[in-house]
Amino acid sequence: MFMGVRTGIIDAYGNYEDVLRDIRRFTSLAHGSDVLTKALLGNYALLDRGRPLEDLRHSIFRTALSRNSRCPLCERAQVCALDHFLPKNHFPEYSILADNLVPVCERCNRLKGDECDRVDGLLMFHAYFDEFPDTEILLAEIDVDSTVSIRYSLHRSDEIDDITFGRVEKQFKILGLFDFYQMEAVAELTDQIDLYDETYASLGDSGLRSTLSALARGAERASVNHWKAALYRALSRNEEFCSGGYRQLLASPMN
Ligand SMILES: [Zn+2]
Repeated sequence: MFMGVRTGIIDAYGNYEDVLRDIRRFTSLAHGSDVLTKALLGNYALLDRGRPLEDLRHSIFRTALSRNSRCPLCERAQVCALDHFLPKNHFPEYSILADNLVPVCERCNRLKGDECDRVDGLLMFHAYFDEFPDTEILLAEIDVDSTVSIRYSLHRSDEIDDITFGRVEKQFKILGLFDFYQMEAVAELTDQIDLYDETYASLGDSGLRSTLSALARGAERASVNHWKAALYRALSRNEEFCSGGYRQLLASPMN
C-alpha cells in the first residue's frame, strides 16, 4: 500500500511536464478522495509548514538572483515572489514541486493569479519549459507630432503557429503588457533626453540613429522581443525622431 502511494506521488510529480502539454484534459489528482489524493495533500501540508519548503524557496530565489533577477514574465521588474505556475487552488499537488515555482515580480504574480485556462488549453509561457518566440513579433509604433507617442502591438510572423501566437497574446492581455511597456518606454526616453540632445548636437541625425540602433542591439541580447529592443528599433527607423523630433519628448502628455 505504502509503496503504491509513494509511486503514485513520484509519478504525479514526474508527469508535470506532460500535464503542461495537455492541460485541457487534465483534472487535478488531488480533487479525488482516494489514498493518493490524501497523500498528495498531506505531503503539501507537511512541507508547507516546515523548513524544507522554506529551503526550497530560498534556493530558487538565490538561483534566480544569481543569474538574472528580472521577472521572466514582464522582463522589467525584479523578482520578489514565487508564482505557482499551475495555481495552488486548482492543482495543490504541484504547489511544492520546484518546477512549478517560478520567481516573478509582485505585479505579474498578482495579475496572473489563478490563471490556468483549461477550456482552450492556452497556458502562459513557463519560464523553465517554454521558449518565447525568437522572431520579431513585438512592435513599437512611434508617432512624432506635437508629442512623441508610443504604442506597442503584436504582429504574427509566418514562422509562428496559431497556438504559440495565441499564448503570446494571452500573456500580454493577462499581464497588461502593452500599457505597462508603454509607461516604461516613456520613463526610459524621458531619462535619456540629454543623451539624445548631445548626440544630435555633435553627430546629427545619423549619429542619433546609430546610437539608437546600438541600444536596440544591446536590448536584443536579452530577447529580440524585449520591450526596449522593439522601442529602440522603432526609434532608430523614425526619421522625425532622429532629426530633432525627440525634443517633443519634453512636450506633455506622452502616450
Ligand atoms: Zn513581472
